[in-house]
Amino acid sequence: MEVFYNSTRSQGTPVKASEAILKGLSDDGGLFVPDHIPALDKSLKELSAMNYREVAYEVMKLYLTDFTEEELKNCINRAYDSKFDTEVIAPLVEAEGAYYLELFHGSTIAFKDMALSILPHLMITSARKNQIKNEIVILTATSGDTGKAALAGFAGVEGTRIIVFYPKNGVSPIQEKQMVTQKGDNTLVVGIHGNFDDAQTGVKMIFSDKELAKEMDEKGFQFSSANSINIGRLVPQICYYVFAYAKLLAEEKVTEGETINVVVPTGNFGNILAAFYAKNMGLPIGKLICASNDNKVLYDFFRTGTYDRNREFVLTTSPSMDILISSNLERLIYRIAGNDAAKNAELMAALGGQGKYEITGEMKAALADFYGNYASEAETAEEIKRLYNSCGYVLDTHTAVASAVYQKYVAETGDNAKTVIASTASPFKFTRSVMNAIDAKYDAMGDFELVDELSKLANVTVPNAIEEIRTAPVVHDKQCDVDKMKDTVKEFLNI
Ligand SMILES: *Cc1c(COP(=O)(O)O)cnc(C)c1O
Repeated sequence: MEVFYNSTRSQGTPVKASEAILKGLSDDGGLFVPDHIPALDKSLKELSAMNYREVAYEVMKLYLTDFTEEELKNCINRAYDSKFDTEVIAPLVEAEGAYYLELFHGSTIAFKDMALSILPHLMITSARKNQIKNEIVILTATSGDTGKAALAGFAGVEGTRIIVFYPKNGVSPIQEKQMVTQKGDNTLVVGIHGNFDDAQTGVKMIFSDKELAKEMDEKGFQFSSANSINIGRLVPQICYYVFAYAKLLAEEKVTEGETINVVVPTGNFGNILAAFYAKNMGLPIGKLICASNDNKVLYDFFRTGTYDRNREFVLTTSPSMDILISSNLERLIYRIAGNDAAKNAELMAALGGQGKYEITGEMKAALADFYGNYASEAETAEEIKRLYNSCGYVLDTHTAVASAVYQKYVAETGDNAKTVIASTASPFKFTRSVMNAIDAKYDAMGDFELVDELSKLANVTVPNAIEEIRTAPVVHDKQCDVDKMKDTVKEFLNI
């Protein structure tokens, strides 16, 4: 059955998957959502015999229904290849009885690679299918990891350009170095004087600027988005939850149909929403455990039913989760409002205006599958140290937030269902915070000295992504104020 995509904010004409991927965001500022969540049409047993690419095809074919089998398989084969440092693509590591789903084996060692290594191919295929002649300009706001993953995905891809805005003082030194050393004439990296929410709001404003869009079109350009609001990011993320379950089944860690819980360190709510979609496709997931850091807007939301961004923005050691407006939550709000675009638009308008909204009791009841909690900075560091001391496994700061929240969940509920914890970054990406958590003595060492130390301690070879930037020259040094983002874009495109 064909899947069409609607906006979360108005009842316009539904679009095909390829159109939704090209546009990124709907014209009315809403996000595209599938008109129904398709059910898996292969049994868990059949899936358990498949490799990552095969599972990805079985999941994605159900959403991207206007892609031919050949088109989709081409995209998948180009994405999940030797760019990943393991053939498994997304291995499960058992530690203290929980299963850490390592999503960081791609080219930038963070989970964003899972979706961003395929998005450029989905986008080019979509452009071809829709007879688009314009050059596609990818505009991205990043809290660190998306930026590099998008740059790596799009660099050198013909018919595309990519512009990345990041908060100048809001990403880790290694994240920044990864981005500013990005090669490729079609790439631009800009540090803005503001935080991630400023960057994201600025990008959204440029996207919804009709006059600019017209000007661009005349010059042969059009925008698209690589942010996790693009349905072409969300759909590939569903695959690894299905794959993880299939692997647990293949290894006889679960029986067919046994319910598992999933823990996701959350920022923009894309990754956990993908798990929610997987559950609604029929994957036996019980609780969706949403882990936040000190920016615990989501924890408060699940507890009270009020989403309130009016609070201090806290810079933490898990910067990719330092977010006060979780964009993808809108897709969930729309759904629990009974796919009511008007109701959702009203809430989003309140969020834009007063910075908060409250859902109804009925909507709150529809969130029963979710459990929210958070880990403070001290609890996150303690979890890294605790797990390392207990079994030698070293977590990155984001995964440690999830792991700490998982401990709280079990202590609170006694629920001991098998659990998959999304491991969203390699510890090598946040070396200093990770090493400091293990022992304060490491703080005196230099960045790359620490990398070598971590390699010894965790008994893991230094990933390629880190080796590469040791010596790479900085090629991007542009900075701008938030209100100059649009001018910066125009300058790069020469319009
Ligand atoms: C992006 C990111 C997250 C948050 O994922 P969302 O889909 O935005 O919720 C968590 N951890 C890491 C390492 C990330 O890069």
